[in-house]
Amino acid sequence: MSLRRPSLPGTRLLEAGIHLRMLHDDRTGILSYFLADTPSARALLIDPQPPDLPVILALLEEFRCRSSWVCYTHSHLGPGPGAEPFMQSLRGRGIRVRRSANAKSLAFGTDAIQVLPTPGHTVDCRSYLYRDRLFCGDLLYAGDCPAGAFPVEPGALWNSGRKVLFELPEETLLYGAHLHHGRAVRLAFEEQRAHPWFSLHSRDAFLARIDRERVERAAARAGLTSAGAMSGAPGAASI
Ligand SMILES: [Zn+2]
Repeated sequence: MSLRRPSLPGTRLLEAGIHLRMLHDDRTGILSYFLADTPSARALLIDPQPPDLPVILALLEEFRCRSSWVCYTHSHLGPGPGAEPFMQSLRGRGIRVRRSANAKSLAFGTDAIQVLPTPGHTVDCRSYLYRDRLFCGDLLYAGDCPAGAFPVEPGALWNSGRKVLFELPEETLLYGAHLHHGRAVRLAFEEQRAHPWFSLHSRDAFLARIDRERVERAAARAGLTSAGAMSGAPGAASI
């Protein structure tokens, strides 16, 4: 019989009346999330994308939601220029909309959604923890982000990644903001053992690997640029 570390403070599943839907944009690979609490007629949108407005309106209607939180995990996914018209469109349909801004927790259902600062990928990254589920944006992708973004604060990213992976219960489901190597949802238990970046043995090893990756990418870009110049490709630097 194998012994395993007990999960604290315990994992609680989605309660009755709470519904979760995932929206996927095949063109960009972006994943966004819709949560509805039918007893309070309230929704919560995580990284909503303006092209998904018709689907989001249909979901709000289906679950009879009259108000909604609008949350972003980080600035790559909003709230860019499209966010305000998107929110106006919701208001135009009679939905009361609130941005989560700097809140530390959001009332939802009989519980609250915790807003966890998880900087590193960008300075303003946040993750949203609801019971046994963490919506963590691009946090887990480290130097391998499907959006091509490189961490702006590698030291902070190490702290954020380790906190998420090693302080949450093993059963926590981790929902990312992109499809990554064909996967959308991960389990904290798996990532604690085999995450390619955060399961490295030390912060120094992590930072050294990030540095190596940064140099290799810069070299690859320079190689592409000079190859383009040699071939006279459109847009290539020339003399
Ligand atoms: Zn990103």
